[in-house]
Amino acid sequence: MLHPKSTEIYFKLNNGVNMPALGLGTASPREHMAETKQAVKAAIKAGYRHIDTAWFYGTEGYIGDALKELLENGDVKRSDLFITSKVWPVYWDDVDLSLNESLKSLGLDYVDLYLQHWPLCFQKIEDSKDGVNGLKGKPIDKDGNALIVEGADYLSTYKQMEKIYLDPKDNRVRAIGVSNYPVEYLDRLLKVCTVKPAVNQVEMHPHLPQFELREFCELHDIKLTAYSPLGSSGAPLLKLPLVKELSEKYQVTLNDVLISYHIRKGSFVIPRSLNPVRLAGCVNFVTLTEGELDQLDDIGRKDSIRYIDGSFAKTIPGFTGGN
Ligand code: NDP
Repeated sequence: MLHPKSTEIYFKLNNGVNMPALGLGTASPREHMAETKQAVKAAIKAGYRHIDTAWFYGTEGYIGDALKELLENGDVKRSDLFITSKVWPVYWDDVDLSLNESLKSLGLDYVDLYLQHWPLCFQKIEDSKDGVNGLKGKPIDKDGNALIVEGADYLSTYKQMEKIYLDPKDNRVRAIGVSNYPVEYLDRLLKVCTVKPAVNQVEMHPHLPQFELREFCELHDIKLTAYSPLGSSGAPLLKLPLVKELSEKYQVTLNDVLISYHIRKGSFVIPRSLNPVRLAGCVNFVTLTEGELDQLDDIGRKDSIRYIDGSFAKTIPGFTGGN
């Protein structure tokens, strides 16, 4: 059976920018971070044009190395790539610095999409051993509560991003958005923002279909990007019997089914893999029927599971601090 390529599908953001539906996730495990370079090269070879990264992942330097080679060899043009990065809550008050650090590591002079990684304002706690750039990434006290800056407002981070985006002399970002914003927070943001976020990147998959958020975002012309589409490390969602059934019906991989589920609904999706064979084997799009989409959604209606639910995030509605 012939299938169109997921890598060839694009959706338009609310500011007119075109974004590839399928992107490569790069939150690689610490011990495998260096492999991100070959994964990016393999992904581009397989047709991917969209890479999702963040200051916090520590992989921007490896992505930068891969991009340098690919661009110098003429394998791809910068204008054909779509690179997303994010500002982490330790830099909630210094977006400018965080963006410059990301651009330097990536070896780029702009990113296509810049997101506020979490609506949180973390204290800057030095940690030269395990920290990211010398700062503790997820500062929590002995009871597991995040060390938040008293009186700080997560919206101030977005305000700084807006300023960068709106400055006609500043060309460092083509679009801005948020991540991990529940409906309540988006509603608050929409009342005060000048630039509507183009994207909200959230955990989304059959066990977490995000019905309420989807409806709100559709109403306000904000696109959703699905992170952890396979259920994160270990890819537990590949074991769902319905996913297996659909992969056999359409003769595509299990990954293809879980990826097509989002693209079919008009969302971006950013699965991670460091395995070149897997990367090449998950670019086929299948037009799942409305009934099949509903059956997949039903999994989450009956049994909602959030895989990314660290205690650092438990103040955000919908998060419990459960892992
Ligand atoms: P995913 O849900 O994409 O799952 C990744 C895991 O699945 C990897 O361990 C990968 O291993 C494995 N895998 C992939 N295909 C197969 C297969 N066929 N068989 C067995 N295992 C497989 O995880 P992530 O949580 O990383 O989410 C994806 C991306 O979303 C991140 O990398 C990041 O870019 C973004 N993200 C954003 C967040 C945010 O707060 N905004 C939070 C979390 C993620 P292998 O490498 O061996 O293939």
